[in-house]
Amino acid sequence: MKNFILIGKNADNNLIISKKNISRKHAKISKIEDGQFLIEDFSTNGTYINEKRIKKFLLKKEDKLFLADYEIKTNFILELFSNDFFKKNKNVNYESLKKQIEFTEKFFLLKEVYEKYQNDKKKKLSGSAWKKTGFRAALALIPLVGNALGIMASGNNAKQREELMALNDQFKIDYVCPKCKMFLGDLPWQGIKNQKKCRACKTKWEL
Ligand SMILES: [Zn+2]
Repeated sequence: MKNFILIGKNADNNLIISKKNISRKHAKISKIEDGQFLIEDFSTNGTYINEKRIKKFLLKKEDKLFLADYEIKTNFILELFSNDFFKKNKNVNYESLKKQIEFTEKFFLLKEVYEKYQNDKKKKLSGSAWKKTGFRAALALIPLVGNALGIMASGNNAKQREELMALNDQFKIDYVCPKCKMFLGDLPWQGIKNQKKCRACKTKWEL
């Protein structure tokens, strides 16, 4: 297992940052005992932790890390150590890695979007339809966004119908691929995650 990474402008670094103020060999992050990480600076323009210039420092995932004037996402980089990312990918461009990280972060936020939608839907449907059919039976009747409206319409008043429609419309706007914006369908987030990538634009959800 690789226990350190080199960061800098040169192509032989593990994390390559092609920016003006980054040195050819800028810094090194090493995994030392019991899950601690040491960062060492070799640069001209400096390495900054929480706005203080450092030479050697025990890095924590919540630290704000800047190489010269360039910010590095500490928590993600430290996590990449634990899944052997740098063993599988020896020389990675940080700019493209950052894009993937941001995409992955947005994708993980969709879990909440899905759960909130399900909860809101349950709340909205907790009126007359529940009393008639019972909680479980009613749930079984609404597996799909499209069907739900048709089935529930008979049992609900106009206001409830309108609220449900607004909820579904918003869900179709929010529950989309962070890149191509395709609606992911009324599938639980875990199921979407298991598909590994977006069916439309093929972007992978995770690294
Ligand atoms: Zn997509």
